[in-house]
Amino acid sequence: CGIVGILGRGPVAEQLVDSLRRLEYRGYDSAGIATLEGARLARRRAEGKLRNLAGRLQAEPLIGQVGIGHTRWATHGRPTENNAHPHATERVAVVHNGIIENFRELREKLQKNGAVFETETDTEAVLHLVDGYLAAGINPVEAVRATLSQLRGAFALGFIFAADEDILICARNGPPLAIGYGDGEMYLGSDAIALGPLTDTISYLEDGDWAVLTHDGATVYDHHNAVVQREVVKQSASA
Ligand code: GLU
Repeated sequence: CGIVGILGRGPVAEQLVDSLRRLEYRGYDSAGIATLEGARLARRRAEGKLRNLAGRLQAEPLIGQVGIGHTRWATHGRPTENNAHPHATERVAVVHNGIIENFRELREKLQKNGAVFETETDTEAVLHLVDGYLAAGINPVEAVRATLSQLRGAFALGFIFAADEDILICARNGPPLAIGYGDGEMYLGSDAIALGPLTDTISYLEDGDWAVLTHDGATVYDHHNAVVQREVVKQSASA
């Protein structure tokens, strides 16, 4: 299972699938990507191998220049297309590796407040938490900050937002997550191998970190929400 993300300057769908291919060694049962097309989040997902997703994209291309991608190893909910990530509302799309341990209580609370759940995944609770804050007029950074404080479990998360094409937010609590630096582009990956063709300039999040990426760089916060510097290293693409 794996996560990728790109804040690009051209269409990113093909690069997202290429990066997901480099994470295939981890195993997965389904895959998907979402890109931002104007102010609209558009998704393609497929059960099974990445070639199914690639076929879907060939029939119905995504042209967005900002996107996230995911290979899923189902823990909660069957390995169906509907349960495949990214999960999305009109406002936000999310990819997640790991398990949200308190998703049942979060889901009950969210449903009482009117959220409509469409999948069997634990991840969807994260989606509706963030979406609720965005619907209330809270900005993406504050919405994710408030959401993370309510999550228990092991997770790597990536978010993109319909209202802002210059932002990708990620968080790490357990599974590794690497940020890649490009030339006016920024990348996210479960490891440096995923980013091999894109960049050799990498920074690893530490446990409890979350980060706000824009096309020009990253701001990393620790679990106290203090801005921190994480070492940027050169890592050969052939690793
Ligand atoms: N728990 C999530 C799900 O079942 C993510 C699984 C994964 O790590 O791919 O959808």
